[in-house]
Amino acid sequence: MQNHMVDRRGLLRAGLVVGGLLAGTASAGTAVFAQTDQPSGGTAPDQRPSTPGQAWATLREGNRRWVDGTVTHPHQDAARRAAVAQKQDPFAVVFSCIDSRVAPELVFDAGLGDLFVVRTAGQTIDPLVTGAAEYGPAELGTPLVVVLGHQRCGAVTAAAESLHDHKKLPGELSTIASSLRSAYKRSDGDVDKMIRINTVDVVNQLKKDKLFAPRIAKGKLKVIGAYYSIDTGEVTRLA
Ligand SMILES: [Zn+2]
Repeated sequence: MQNHMVDRRGLLRAGLVVGGLLAGTASAGTAVFAQTDQPSGGTAPDQRPSTPGQAWATLREGNRRWVDGTVTHPHQDAARRAAVAQKQDPFAVVFSCIDSRVAPELVFDAGLGDLFVVRTAGQTIDPLVTGAAEYGPAELGTPLVVVLGHQRCGAVTAAAESLHDHKKLPGELSTIASSLRSAYKRSDGDVDKMIRINTVDVVNQLKKDKLFAPRIAKGKLKVIGAYYSIDTGEVTRLA
């Protein structure tokens, strides 16, 4: 991260070069297949989604494969490792919980260099986390931010119990609970509702972010909220 921040102009240039290369090969038909690293399952020719709508569609398609058990594990081979070794140009930021069952690259059937992933307990947010989420859209033009809450979130459940019982959680866990207090107050004691409210709250906070707001107004960025079902693997949109 540090190096990328320092060399952001170089990265931006690299991003432009990649965009040009992709545009140049898009009409080359089968040649695209030869030059890229499509999984043996073979999907569409490799082109990074460049709009919020394309990015969300790509994530939805990946999640559909995950749900259906037809994953292709794109961008998970040595060719991809080499292709992104000198620069990265992910098409989305996924901000999710630390929960071990909600790994973004898995649930969206994505690979190396596809996603910026930011994870905190209950996808709670603070200035450091916001900065991490800002990096892709502000510096590399990443077109989509997805805030991903999930079913049976242990962090939200623990926070709800702590707030309900007025029992402070140990260490910095109490900071997580504090961050979820507002969602708790509007959830009528329903943890699943609290998970969804918190996810939408974070979306609304990020939409107001001063680096995001102008990009959203120009249609270059979307911040959306979604909910992951541990049971089915399905991601559904909330906001
Ligand atoms: Zn969780």
